[in-house]
Amino acid sequence: MQFASLGSGSRGNGTLIKEADTTLLVDCGFSAKEAEKRLYQQGVAPSELTALLVTHEHADHISGIRVLARRYHLPVYATAGTAACLSEDLNGLIRTFNCHTDFSIQDLHILPFPVPHDAREPAQFVFSNGEYRLGLLTDVGSITPLIESVLSGCDALMLEANHDIDMLAEGDYPPSLKIRVGGRFGHLNNVQSSTLLEKIDTSRLQHIFAMHISEKNNLPSLVLPLFAKALNCEHDWIGIADQDAGFGWRQLTKA
Ligand SMILES: [Zn+2]
Ligand SMILES: [Zn+2]
Repeated sequence: MQFASLGSGSRGNGTLIKEADTTLLVDCGFSAKEAEKRLYQQGVAPSELTALLVTHEHADHISGIRVLARRYHLPVYATAGTAACLSEDLNGLIRTFNCHTDFSIQDLHILPFPVPHDAREPAQFVFSNGEYRLGLLTDVGSITPLIESVLSGCDALMLEANHDIDMLAEGDYPPSLKIRVGGRFGHLNNVQSSTLLEKIDTSRLQHIFAMHISEKNNLPSLVLPLFAKALNCEHDWIGIADQDAGFGWRQLTKA
């Protein structure tokens, strides 16, 4: 199983998950043209995609979904709440899933789980090929017991580290946006993310990436020490998902 990022942050998100001939694009918060360019940069022709998965309807996750789906006739997997926010002209392509029921798309098994975020019915995912488990968690304001349990024991994690509490408090966001981002249905701060890493079983981790890092309210240099301390590892072992470049393919392999 392999994974890569087309970019991560409030200006657009897109994550690739690949197993054998199955390639999923999770979210597309870039224009279709920009997404096509980023896909080719990762060596993927858009026509090779098996399906699109959508975590929730915020623009940084769906901007290019409709055009990509129609242009390449790709099925779009979303919860009923998220699907209701996508346009009706995707009717024939929408495949709704239940946030509490796992399902498969060809070679990949997908465990969706609900998260506290200010969208209609947001979901995040654990992907599996039967041998390895890959967890994705972004756009979540608070950690629930369910999140701890599904992300425990993963072989790789892509984990939101959206903001530093002090930078958000002292930054130039309007007060209402500060409350939204820092609230229980907003985004994870660095301490919440690193505390999650301390609590869950990370003994199998081969890869960890910090995701959805705010360009205004955070710095990789603030994330790395907290993640490294939580995982008792070197800073350079921790990956950072870049807004412009994402990160290149990573593979899960036998130890
Ligand atoms: Zn987002
Ligand atoms: Zn969001």
